[in-house]
Amino acid sequence: MASNLEPCPFCGSCNMHISHHLLSRAVCCQHCKATGPHRRTTEEAVLNWNRVSKCSRQQVQSPNPQIHGHLHNLEDAVRSLASILRHGPRQGLGGGVEPDREH
Ligand SMILES: [Zn+2]
Repeated sequence: MASNLEPCPFCGSCNMHISHHLLSRAVCCQHCKATGPHRRTTEEAVLNWNRVSKCSRQQVQSPNPQIHGHLHNLEDAVRSLASILRHGPRQGLGGGVEPDREH
C-alpha cells in the first residue's frame, strides 16, 4: 500500500489495511479491528481515517488526566464509605467502648 496512513488512535498500531466493501472502502486496524469512515474511494477513506486518527488522538490526550483524577477521587470516596460501612462510625472513639449487648 503506497498511501501513508496514520497509526491507529485506539491501540497505536501501524498495522492497517484497507477493507474493500461492495460500495465502499474503509481503513481497518488489524490489531484492534477499529474501522475508519467508509468512503467510495480508497483515497477518501485514507484521508478520513487520517483526520479521525489525528482528532481522536488530540482528544484522548487532553481529558485523560482529568478523568483519571476524578476516578481516583471516586475510588477514595468509595473506599472510605466502604470502611465506614464495615467498621461502623465508632472508629474515632479510642477503643474503650464496651458492647452492652451480644448477638
Ligand atoms: Zn488499532
